[in-house]
Amino acid sequence: MKFLQTYCVLDRELRILWVGGDWDEFALENQGPAAVANEVLSTKLDDHIVGEDTRSAVIGLLEAVFETQKEIKLDCRCDSPRHLRRVQLSIRPMKDNRVLMVHDLRDVQSFVKPFGNWHYRHDATAAKCSFCNAVRQDGGVWIAPEALETHPTAVRYVMCETCQGQIAEAITAVRENRKPARSLVNGYGPQS
Ligand SMILES: [Zn+2]
Repeated sequence: MKFLQTYCVLDRELRILWVGGDWDEFALENQGPAAVANEVLSTKLDDHIVGEDTRSAVIGLLEAVFETQKEIKLDCRCDSPRHLRRVQLSIRPMKDNRVLMVHDLRDVQSFVKPFGNWHYRHDATAAKCSFCNAVRQDGGVWIAPEALETHPTAVRYVMCETCQGQIAEAITAVRENRKPARSLVNGYGPQS
């Protein structure tokens, strides 16, 4: 099973007004039945984002789009244990003070050796970046999933320094009405 696109319309309070595309397929594969359309409509998006720095990054991006009425696009990853998946996230202003958030699958590759399933645990020693999916164990360096021997089974979801910088740059650029510096996320930049 693979998703191609998911759509989500949010109001100014970040309530989910509508979801579409392959939302349910993606939800079931990645977050389980609690995230399917019927369960999330009319709830707040930020209640579904795991990890404090991921939540504040997404809120920061949404606020920048609401305030500037300009689109933000970012490359990120939504890997599964079997597949490396490059995704473009775009957040676009809509009329009536709403935004459309789109996850658009750009590229899928099978991992040479599939990983076992991993799960979130708030006190896990291993950290996984929600945006680029890199993993850091025992306070070491961030390693891209495709370079891992084995994937830790329990991870905390955080954001790596590269992605924090990338998101801060995207927000600053849209507020300054200029193009952001080249993406470093997603294996297209120096991380690869
Ligand atoms: Zn990252």
